[in-house]
Amino acid sequence: MKTTQLLKVDSQNPEREKIRLAADLIRRGDLVAFPTETVYGLGADALNPKAVLALFEAKKRPLDNPPIVHVGNVSDVYRLVVEILPKAETLMKKFWPGPLTLIFERSETVPDVTVAGLDTVAIRIPKHNVALALLRESHCPIAAPSANIAGKPSPTMAKHVLEDLNGRIDAVLDAGPTSIGVESTVLDLTVKPPQILRPGGTPYEALKEVLREVRLHPIAVAEKEVPVERARSPGVKHKHYAPNAEVVLVEGEISAIKKKVKELAESYSREGKKVGVLATDETASYYAADVVRSLGSRGDLMIVARNLFKLLREFDSEGVDVVIAEGLPFEGLGLAVMNRLRKASGYKIVKANSH
Ligand code: AMP
Ligand code: MG
Repeated sequence: MKTTQLLKVDSQNPEREKIRLAADLIRRGDLVAFPTETVYGLGADALNPKAVLALFEAKKRPLDNPPIVHVGNVSDVYRLVVEILPKAETLMKKFWPGPLTLIFERSETVPDVTVAGLDTVAIRIPKHNVALALLRESHCPIAAPSANIAGKPSPTMAKHVLEDLNGRIDAVLDAGPTSIGVESTVLDLTVKPPQILRPGGTPYEALKEVLREVRLHPIAVAEKEVPVERARSPGVKHKHYAPNAEVVLVEGEISAIKKKVKELAESYSREGKKVGVLATDETASYYAADVVRSLGSRGDLMIVARNLFKLLREFDSEGVDVVIAEGLPFEGLGLAVMNRLRKASGYKIVKANSH
């Protein structure tokens, strides 16, 4: 077992000596978790195959699911890719730094393990002063998947990182909770028209405005398990975001959702199960389950996204057996939230209708 150092840093003006310490670890091939604007990432030198392999092991991540490579500047992208098309340039200008990951054809510089043997690489510049300081001080691209054990809800606080990875990684930079709370949008630019492989922090609507033509890959909005050969983004086929509790997702129009959630909560209760309800401000007082938590107002999907993973973890610390989750609108960040909830439920989706 390793000793995991906890380094508290100022999120706006991170202390230089702490960033230096973390950057030294990265350069040595060690593993450092750090905050981004989306979730906490677990970083390793993306060009050091041993370090990247250790990263997969620490997370228990299947080797066929490549991490995102984070860079500090647009100029760092050039040596990692074959070419940057005008479309990519436009997107990088408009959305970087920010929660948009772009898929490029990769150059020989990128080790096979970093891209899981694919001929493409996923890259972004995060919008967080700690992440940017670490990237600039390390002088290398940093491979950083979410800093959790594979399959668990992603970490939005350093506490979540330690719950999963204490003793398995070298350090955590703790700068408080992350602001967006769901991972980046993954956009494949190697196909025409570009395809969203994973909805995330950059809304579909914002990409549509810039690209005009952009598709949602069927997997991004899947209501059931998708056959492996159709899974272009390898990670999407693995179990994801799931708390220990069973999750049931109720979708439909809000008044029908309320009725259905209540009914399901009562029926699981009668079976002797400890029941959690993942509700919203508008509905929380309507339920009488063992643990009721609100994601925030249905009208503010940014707040809902920010709270999602933290609340999924809280149900586990409360020891609930089953979580009944309300479906949310598929707009803005709601698309990312619904994608995570559907996966967390293992596609146990109940459609509620009003008649
Ligand atoms: P995470 O690093 O945990 O945020 O997950 C990264 C996501 O990006 C996963 O869903 C990966 O499957 C996806 N990804 C990474 N590299 C590629 C790539 N070259 N092509 C398609 N998807 C990728
Ligand atoms: Mg992840």
